[in-house]
Amino acid sequence: GFMNSARTIELSERYAAHNYHPLPVVIEEAQGVWVKSPEGKSYMDFLSAYSALNHGHRHPKLVAALKEQADKVTLTSRAFHSTAAGEFYEKLARYTGKSRLIAMNTGAEAVETALKAVRRWAYRVKGVPDGQADIIVCSGNFHGRTLAITSFSSHEEYKSGFGPFLPGFTIVPYGDLAAMEAEITPHTAAILVEPIQGEAGIVLPPDGYLRGIRELCDRHRVLMAADEIQTGFGRTGYPFACDREGVVPDLYIMGKALGGGILPISAVASSDEVLGLFEPGSHGSTFGGNPLACAVSAAALDVLEEEDLAGRSLRLGGLVMERLRAMGSPAVKEIRGSGLFIGIELQGPARPYCEQLMQLGLLCKETHENTIRLAPPLTISEEELEWALERLRLVLVGD
Ligand code: PLP
Repeated sequence: GFMNSARTIELSERYAAHNYHPLPVVIEEAQGVWVKSPEGKSYMDFLSAYSALNHGHRHPKLVAALKEQADKVTLTSRAFHSTAAGEFYEKLARYTGKSRLIAMNTGAEAVETALKAVRRWAYRVKGVPDGQADIIVCSGNFHGRTLAITSFSSHEEYKSGFGPFLPGFTIVPYGDLAAMEAEITPHTAAILVEPIQGEAGIVLPPDGYLRGIRELCDRHRVLMAADEIQTGFGRTGYPFACDREGVVPDLYIMGKALGGGILPISAVASSDEVLGLFEPGSHGSTFGGNPLACAVSAAALDVLEEEDLAGRSLRLGGLVMERLRAMGSPAVKEIRGSGLFIGIELQGPARPYCEQLMQLGLLCKETHENTIRLAPPLTISEEELEWALERLRLVLVGD
């Protein structure tokens, strides 16, 4: 039956845990960059479900792949093979250039998988004494919400009341290679890093940082694990954000847009030396690599190439940043980004600006206190971008 916005919000507030602070927008339908409320009000989606919707809402090719696979088989578990999985693995191996893959469901699960893999590599390949492997992570990191990942967060509100925490992690300042090298020991298994920190507020590391990490890892025999969950699949103007510096990590951790904005699917890509250490019984997931998600994901990988979404992102992102800077808003402290992954850091809280933009029909979300994150679908047209820029101008500089 018809469910209006007020009733929807009332029911969600009444029953769902309050672990998010959503804008008061209810979405009933969506297509491309547009979403629509039950009352028929349209908004442009400039968040893309935290970069999971790089392909836009309900991309026709992906919906077709979903329906076609739904008519065949949706779930086999990994107790059996599925035709859809085989095709997906081949495409993702080509996209990543890696020889071995493991599919999971959520981003956090892929990170957990990578943590287990690098620990096992440390013990069985590098020769670290059992139980003593260490993983270096960065301050301001965001890798998900499981307990292991929460254990090495540097944000108090992510950790408060959730201890005891998992040992075996060392936090170093993001962007500081010397501090990172100082913490490397013979027990270091891996460095886990976001090539651009998303949740921290679109924080770009200094130029050469990723290349520097690659060098440190090679010199000290440590694995480089890049969390490309938010930055991958064209978001930053490249297939992966590591490509901005021509760096190939030992592990790619992927999620979000891998599922084309339709289904949850995540993955880790690495070498036989690393992922070959997962023998039967060591790891798994009932829905990981399920045929429905694999079919959609394979189509999503095709669309990335067919529509050159990375190239569009680089070009359009450059244009947006140029236009935003030219506005010269006194409210703005800094505009930074890569491709259509852009942060507008304000002098004060970003939330009121996001609320004003919502009223003008543009959906953005603040990330941390003072930063508005702009991350539209990469399929956005220049005309649609102009529409959004006009609303941003109204809110940032007025009439
Ligand atoms: N890693 C990064 C860099 C992320 O941005 C996110 C989600 O925002 C995650 C991991 C966690 O992914 P998920 O929410 O699918 O568990």
